Amino acid sequence: AVPEMRRNMQYTESERLFEASKKCIPGGVNSPVRAYQAVHRTPVFVERASGSHIYDVDGNAYIDYVCSWGPCILGHAYLRVIKAVQAACENGLTYGAPTGKELKLAELIRSCIPSMEVSRLVSSGTEATMSAIRVARGFTGRDKVVKFRGCYHGHSDGLLVKAGSGALTQSVPDSKGVPADYTKNTLVAEYNQPDSVQKLFETQGKEIAAIIVEPVAANMGVVLPEPGFLEFLRKITEDYGALLIFDEVITGFRLGIGGAQGYFHVTPDLTTLGKIIGGGMPVGAYGGRKEIMDMVAPVGPVYQAGTLSGNPIATTAGIETLTILKETPEIYTQIEASARTLAEGMRGHFGESVCVNQIGSLMSIFFTAQKVKDYETATSSDISRYADYFNYMLDHQIYLAPSQFEAMFVSAAHTAEDIAQTCEVLRGYGR
Ligand code: PLP
Repeated sequence: AVPEMRRNMQYTESERLFEASKKCIPGGVNSPVRAYQAVHRTPVFVERASGSHIYDVDGNAYIDYVCSWGPCILGHAYLRVIKAVQAACENGLTYGAPTGKELKLAELIRSCIPSMEVSRLVSSGTEATMSAIRVARGFTGRDKVVKFRGCYHGHSDGLLVKAGSGALTQSVPDSKGVPADYTKNTLVAEYNQPDSVQKLFETQGKEIAAIIVEPVAANMGVVLPEPGFLEFLRKITEDYGALLIFDEVITGFRLGIGGAQGYFHVTPDLTTLGKIIGGGMPVGAYGGRKEIMDMVAPVGPVYQAGTLSGNPIATTAGIETLTILKETPEIYTQIEASARTLAEGMRGHFGESVCVNQIGSLMSIFFTAQKVKDYETATSSDISRYADYFNYMLDHQIYLAPSQFEAMFVSAAHTAEDIAQTCEVLRGYGR
């Protein structure tokens, strides 16, 4: 059922926990965006979640559009996944030795994303992108990498340049603690602006190992690739003997069973995955053609390892989640329809003063009259208006990302009733 509306919501237990947490955890949180700095309030501390709903420690219920930043495509605590994980736990939490489950997950990934002929499991999206770049450099014998302003690929040193996500609202786009030497091989281009890429290749093409891109940018808010942009990246990398890396940590198994590459029919050389493939557990993966992945140790000279890589519990959650998605393709039609209804609701309510970008079950509202198609237009959004909107929605039990520059995620657990209630709350905003 849709959570009951409460009057005068209290957040006292969240406030108490936050004050105590700040004394022993940096900023009280284990990932910066969770601190709610961009929306100027105390974060909600979560007690539990089920389906499309999340419940805080003060007993408030919310309709959740963060979905743990993407993994919970089936909704929270999906019974079949939970039961499989519970059963797997009985057999031990980790072995540090190969298992049949890792083979099963690799085969499942390959069956859905054929370009990932060979893949390696890691424990986060950050590790996946960091490793994919190492492989691209090893394979091409070149050092430079092109990334796009506003795209986020995790927090590894070399990629923390003009990053999106938390780095945008935290005002630390370039982190302290990263030596200049570590980022000197990272070249930054503009998303959706082929010319900016062309220029880098014309001057440094022979030194460029790879382009890494979020095929749909989702860390400066959701920004769709313009027609032909991904095809252009495919062509220019081929022309110059560089690799194309699609960072599908968000889009993988989100835009469809084949990810963004299946959606747009553009095939990269390497792909990185995370979030959904762990079904809520810490998992990442990178992979591509055998010829490229043969660079990875122990076959090849590119080293990459992990104590908990291929962990049996995380792998179980991943297998179960991907199997359900594969068996039930109508999930994608349903979540896209839900997102479209929300997007239309937003456009209807705010009119021309906002830009709503939506693709599949990914979406963002930008408080700008401009069409948001790159970093510059994304950052033209009025973030104080976003903060006001966020606060209103939270106080009316709609849980959104506490930052303009994150995506809104819809899950298969969101019912028509949830979507209708969300639109109803929205219609009350600003009245
Ligand atoms: N790549 C993309 C596109 C992401 O959105 C993220 C995280 O949000 C990452 C990589 C890093 O993944 P993780 O947070 O699991 O390290």
